[in-house]
Amino acid sequence: MIIKHMAEEIYKPRGVDPDKYVCHRCSNSSKRYFYKYYSEFHGTDVVYCLKCVNIGRSDSVTPLRVVRASPKPEPCRYHLGFELSPAQKSASDKIIEALEANKNLLLYAVTGAGKTEITFEAISLARQRGLNVAFVSPRIDVIKEVYLRLTDAFREVDIELLYSGVKVEFEHRFTVCTVHQLYNYIDHFDLIIVDETDAFPMPADSQLMNAVTRAASGKSTIVLMTATPDRKMIDFVGHENVVSLTRRYHGHDLAIPKVVWQSVTKDIRRQRLPKKLERLIDDIIRADRRVLVFLPEISLMEKLYPLVAEKFPDSDSVYSGDEERAAKVEDMRNDRTKVLLTTTILERGVTFKGLDVIVVNAEMFNTDSLVQICGRVGRKTDDPTGNIWLMAGHNTGHIRQTIRIIKNFNAGKTTI
Ligand SMILES: [Zn+2]
Repeated sequence: MIIKHMAEEIYKPRGVDPDKYVCHRCSNSSKRYFYKYYSEFHGTDVVYCLKCVNIGRSDSVTPLRVVRASPKPEPCRYHLGFELSPAQKSASDKIIEALEANKNLLLYAVTGAGKTEITFEAISLARQRGLNVAFVSPRIDVIKEVYLRLTDAFREVDIELLYSGVKVEFEHRFTVCTVHQLYNYIDHFDLIIVDETDAFPMPADSQLMNAVTRAASGKSTIVLMTATPDRKMIDFVGHENVVSLTRRYHGHDLAIPKVVWQSVTKDIRRQRLPKKLERLIDDIIRADRRVLVFLPEISLMEKLYPLVAEKFPDSDSVYSGDEERAAKVEDMRNDRTKVLLTTTILERGVTFKGLDVIVVNAEMFNTDSLVQICGRVGRKTDDPTGNIWLMAGHNTGHIRQTIRIIKNFNAGKTTI
């Protein structure tokens, strides 16, 4: 079923139960995530849910309406410009086996393993059988990138794209969307692929995982994909259903981060560009490469940026709310920008050629973030390695664990 405002069939006479404070769309039941006001029009109090309001309002005076979609098979051919590596092929077969057996699966894959392409065969097979497919992620950046790759490969197929404010809608049979959008689906998708399962806000919000399971049909397969699985994800699929992919598609080792012991705070406070940082950036530019400089917070970035830009004119900075974000990323891609300061917003979903990475105040990042950030370098076959520097005032468990995970990947071992 798909929840739709103008649909005929009524699923629940009202979206929110105003006495129990329960939202029938997203299952929110914590009172602080509801808003109550008196409506002149309805002549009564109206309670609406704040948790799912960004996908349309669910309230105590409006019924939840649904449409049902009947299965519709289609040929669903795809085109891939290269051949899967033996490891990718074997992972692809495992997803197909899971689909045949209606089992869930965890794909534990190193960053840059070519995870998206591994799912194509299962997606194609599912659609040929009339099964509904969703490719979801908590992160909008990831969704946009995946959508481009899917539309490029599945050229004769209608693929939906849904995230806040954007709607490319067809018949809900092959949907790419944020996890939040799944609140509108009940018992609908037969194959759900969740990319970057570890990304915020997924681990903190068990309700989002519930949205995935509720959107899944009775006989379904949920594939979780991540580079840093946690106990909950493994328990969800069962230990025997974990498939690991420890090599990148091009077969080269991952770069091991080098730690530079240096706190930048004092220099930045005195409006000086930290010497070690300047030397690192300088070396990178001289080597005709470019660099993403990751910072833990916007305020620090705003202070550091003018200091960097003074020495390195081809610099820029970007953060999540930045209206020129897309253009700035494009400038980096086209080599107009050599040094891009960024918050964690670019830790996933972006690929640049000839890229090195510096993390400033690395002691403030967690393992998931650091693994993703390190995964930005060496993603291209013609530039399979890269350099990563973690600048930290002191060592942390997260830094040690990140280096351990990456070394284990290179040794063909997984760290669960
Ligand atoms: Zn809700």
